[in-house]
Amino acid sequence: MLAAPKPRLKGAPGEGGIVVVGAGAAGLVAAIFARTMNREVLLIERTTDGGRKILISGGGRCNILPSSLQPERFVTDSPSPLLRGMLRSWPLAAQRAFFEEEVGIPLALEAETGKLFPVSNRARDVRDGLMTLARTRGVEVQTQTTVTGLQATGSPAGSEVSWRIITSRGDFDASSVILATGGLSVPLTGSDGTGLAIARQLGHEIHSTYPALTPLTGSTPLLASLSGISLDMRIRAKWQGRTTESHGGFLFTHFGYSGPSVLDVSHVAVRSHGQRPAAVLRVQWTDRDADTWSRELAATHGLVVSLVARHMPERLAEVLCLEAGLPPDRRGPELRRQERTALVAALTSYELPWKGDEGYKKAEVTGGGVALTDVHPRTLESVRHPGLFMCGEMLDAFGPIGGYNFAWAWATGRAAGLGAAR
Ligand SMILES: Cc1cc2nc3c(=O)[nH]c(=O)nc-3n(C[C@H](O)[C@H](O)[C@H](O)COP(=O)(O)OP(=O)(O)OC[C@H]3O[C@@H](n4cnc5c(N)ncnc54)[C@H](O)[C@@H]3O)c2cc1C
Repeated sequence: MLAAPKPRLKGAPGEGGIVVVGAGAAGLVAAIFARTMNREVLLIERTTDGGRKILISGGGRCNILPSSLQPERFVTDSPSPLLRGMLRSWPLAAQRAFFEEEVGIPLALEAETGKLFPVSNRARDVRDGLMTLARTRGVEVQTQTTVTGLQATGSPAGSEVSWRIITSRGDFDASSVILATGGLSVPLTGSDGTGLAIARQLGHEIHSTYPALTPLTGSTPLLASLSGISLDMRIRAKWQGRTTESHGGFLFTHFGYSGPSVLDVSHVAVRSHGQRPAAVLRVQWTDRDADTWSRELAATHGLVVSLVARHMPERLAEVLCLEAGLPPDRRGPELRRQERTALVAALTSYELPWKGDEGYKKAEVTGGGVALTDVHPRTLESVRHPGLFMCGEMLDAFGPIGGYNFAWAWATGRAAGLGAAR
């Protein structure tokens, strides 16, 4: 018996048309800019609505951009000048102007973190605003449709068609394709790595992928008892002779540690996991250095734990004193040299025990991905397949917490959209 024909895909573009796969941050912006030259654009999305990562970003507030950008804080296994060039293709001020003037979302600076959020503090406004702008500019949107493969068909004489797009709702042709399918992080939002598999199958070099900006696990029962406590601190992750440093919020969880500072160095731990030696994480719990603590400890006459607790949550102070071998009633004048040395080390260079990480389920981004050398730096067109463009998280780059990853998605989405339109 013959299978029922698949329903025809609504809005499939004609000759010269552009298909954007994935209506996430990068794909939405790519589709908007792909309309620049009046080419037909179809945006295909597997979920019912798209932009789900935007919805859950920044705790539902969407940290849309940083107020300033340090490109050296991005991580890639590709040549970093390529990454910097792609980022600089759309300067922050121009990105901000796009959101405020074209999408219609005024932004506000959170002074203590340097992050930009929509004034409304609603991530939904960002997702809906981009989707509305795309539709207003003439982008056709097809949801609940999964792209499962791409075939380069070549450009038969007299035709601009060069790609067959294979989808869950039927196959059709287009002249250019922009892959904006994200990485592997938080698969519930729709990104499960299909796009990376398609890129690999088309012969692109994929740098090993790994969860990044993800919580770490493996604290001791004593540290797990601090679950829920948060503070600002400084953390250094040392592996293979390199040190990666971050400072800011830290949170004890039931299983380990989270908060921006931990997330920012988590990729070092993740990549070293199972290797010998694995990454060593060291924490300075306050902004006081070893000399300052030594002087204060020498000068105090009261309980040592009370002095320490003046600068951090009391329960953490108790745990650090306990781990340094101090009895709870130890007073300053009774402090032994060995105890002081151990306590100062615990306060300024505490080795944070860890065993693993919470993986892609919790990772805000995916490390690794399509090698940046496999796309032309200005247009993001594949160096292997003309007419194929790639952008966003599926490329081998990610930045720290703070709006860096959207800055990357917006900039590369725009470059790919303009590249395809030309
Ligand atoms: C909890 C969380 C909070 C975050 N907060 C911030 C923040 O505040 N600031 C910041 O800068 N970054 C933040 N990020 C990171 C940011 O969300 C990502 O870097 C960004 O969304 C990546 O955009 P993208 O378009 O490349 O990929 P995605 O957003 O993952 O979009 C990919 C889209 O493609 C679709 N898709 C995938 N495969 C197919 C297919 N085969 N066919 C059809 N459609 C497909 C998916 O459904 C999805 O809609 C956060 C991430 C998470 C998980």
